[in-house]
Amino acid sequence: MADEFHKLKNVDSSFVKIKCKNCGNEQIIYSKISSTVVCNICGSTLAKPTGSTLETSGELAGTVKL
Ligand SMILES: [Zn+2]
Repeated sequence: MADEFHKLKNVDSSFVKIKCKNCGNEQIIYSKISSTVVCNICGSTLAKPTGSTLETSGELAGTVKL
């Protein structure tokens, strides 16, 4: 199974809520990660860093303003 990653656009908050497409878990992650983030439930790769913003294999379920 190949994970497809897409870049999040217009993310202006420090944290985003990503829904894992594998198990449906919603996980809050830092939007400027420097290493790969895996799902706490099923262990699949949720997001990986790029130059400016993250790429995710899940879907954006919301943003978190702190
Ligand atoms: Zn998962």
